[in-house]
Amino acid sequence: MAETPYIFNIQKFSTHDGDGVRTTIFFKGCPLRCMWCHNPESQHYYKELIFHHHKCTACGRCVAKCKQGANSIVDGKIVFDRSKCTACGVCTDWCITEARELAGKEYTVDALVKEAMKDKIFYEQSGGGVTLSGGEVMASQHMDYVEEVCRKLHENGVSVFIDTSGYTDYENLKRILPYVDVFLYDIKVMDPEDHKKYIGVDNSLILENLKKLSDEGAGLYIRLPIIQQVNATDEHIESVIHFLKENNIHARQVNLLPYHDIGKGKYASLDMEYHDDEMSVPVSELMEHFKSMFEEQGFNKVNIGG
Ligand code: SF4
Ligand code: SF4
Repeated sequence: MAETPYIFNIQKFSTHDGDGVRTTIFFKGCPLRCMWCHNPESQHYYKELIFHHHKCTACGRCVAKCKQGANSIVDGKIVFDRSKCTACGVCTDWCITEARELAGKEYTVDALVKEAMKDKIFYEQSGGGVTLSGGEVMASQHMDYVEEVCRKLHENGVSVFIDTSGYTDYENLKRILPYVDVFLYDIKVMDPEDHKKYIGVDNSLILENLKKLSDEGAGLYIRLPIIQQVNATDEHIESVIHFLKENNIHARQVNLLPYHDIGKGKYASLDMEYHDDEMSVPVSELMEHFKSMFEEQGFNKVNIGG
């Protein structure tokens, strides 16, 4: 796994990843496998080719240009053999329909900070800043890089938000604490067995880290993805509220994030499986109901959405 992370997207003028107008930087690589993940290109730590089949006209340029022989035409259609692809990116330069896209680009710390600083004026006008997201930005092998990015942005007077699952060594969170304004901290599923089932790992580390961050006075926005058939129940919401209150977690705000399946098409483009029959979108009345459950328990800043 790379120590310099790959970045798969830099989203300018984002308004869903924290306060004001922000630049959201998406890091590749994640130790979790949330069943509803809408950024499947974020999961692997390595670069990979996204092949948008529906845009392909079978012109054959990628067949001719790929030195690995990863593409062939069968019955008038392109067949892409991912096992042969080295993600060199050559075919992306030759595909005029943009059916080919490379997920993963390297930036030096200074280049990334410079890119983010281009919109500083918008951050200042809107109370925004930069959000580091993923994948999992707190993945241990990236921490020297992440700390350096956070420190430089902070020294340049830019607000830094970290979007994290919290699934990391606490030392990683602690070392960036001086430079981070807010952690956008996910609580996905409370039941440990269900957490393993839907996310692939146990949740005890995540909950322990949240307690420690709160005890140290970190800025915290708690984010709950709400997925029908997974966690859209009163019992789950009650369990989250109980945990937050019992542990005196100081959440500056709570964000309830309704599931959507916008990322569904990307799974096919990456030859990955998507379990859409096991998840559905919660109706807006249910989201309002969950919001009022938090409000009735004294949480005064509860939003539906990011
Ligand atoms: S170059 Fe693009 S459009 Fe042409 S065959 Fe390859 S993927 Fe399809
Ligand atoms: S990214 Fe490189 S190796 Fe992969 S299909 Fe394209 S040209 Fe071939």
